[in-house]
Amino acid sequence: MNNINEVIEIPVGISACVMGEEVRFNGGHSQSRICRNQLASHFNYQAFCPEVAAGFGIPRPTMRLIGEPESPTLTYTKDPEQDLTEQLKSAIQPILKKCSGLDGFILKKDSPSCGMERVKVYQSSGYPHAQRGSGLFAKALMERYPNLPIEEDGRLNDPCLRENFVMRVFAHHNFRTEVLEQPCLHNLIQFHSSYKYLLMAHNQTAYKTLGKMLAVAHLEPLESLLPTYHQQFMAAIKTPASRGSHCNVMQHIMGYLKRSVDSHVRRDILKTFEQYRLGEVNLIAPMTLLSHYINQKGSEYIRTQRYLEPYPSHLGLRN
Ligand code: SF4
Repeated sequence: MNNINEVIEIPVGISACVMGEEVRFNGGHSQSRICRNQLASHFNYQAFCPEVAAGFGIPRPTMRLIGEPESPTLTYTKDPEQDLTEQLKSAIQPILKKCSGLDGFILKKDSPSCGMERVKVYQSSGYPHAQRGSGLFAKALMERYPNLPIEEDGRLNDPCLRENFVMRVFAHHNFRTEVLEQPCLHNLIQFHSSYKYLLMAHNQTAYKTLGKMLAVAHLEPLESLLPTYHQQFMAAIKTPASRGSHCNVMQHIMGYLKRSVDSHVRRDILKTFEQYRLGEVNLIAPMTLLSHYINQKGSEYIRTQRYLEPYPSHLGLRN
């Protein structure tokens, strides 16, 4: 298992305009400072603009989705008769092929090509449906790579969604490099073991289901076991962990300090758990204290739990 702070560059796809490239319909960009500054130290971005790849040019007339939200058509806003769907789709396929080695993707919100969700789809009356849809590239990306962590630039402004996305990107990267690139049952069990407490924090049901799955893993061929595990694991950690479930997991981890740490120190640590549960401090407070004592007094097993450091701490995502 890698030292998390030594993981330097994780390949992550990004809508080119979010990266700061001037590829939007009006020749501008939609650069995200969070993506360019905070996350760039560990993400090796690969930028794509499906509309430019499809040859629509810069600048270009604005486009929109029309028809049924589940299967819309791409048109120019001012010329809804001109169907641009196939032109865009022909550019999407080569981009999707290049995404096979990625561990995450950041999409531009609201775009008829890149928007992940809540994209307006217009009726023939000119009014949008109440039901929103996904951009054509985003939809194709999610269908082709259902386990890939995908998020929109706007949603990354929310600290909880940002933390969850980055955690999933690192988990996807770890699964790809530690299990899929050297597939064997031993590596899968090692991976699962290192994510045990993180899984418990995010989804108790999946934590139990995946544990049972691996208990009888020797009975199933690896070729079918790995995709099933990967799908269920990535879906499980997408569920945000509540303050209550973090406290539950931290208390479990405290059990490893029962004999090695004085009772008054344990009381102080438990006090920070309660402050966190009540919303008086952020997760970083109890985690820093807990990690400090686990690093000093904890067993090898508990020190390697990725729950304690699921991504490099200097990203400051638990602050
Ligand atoms: S949203 Fe997507 S298609 Fe539109 S300019 Fe940005 S990268 Fe290109």
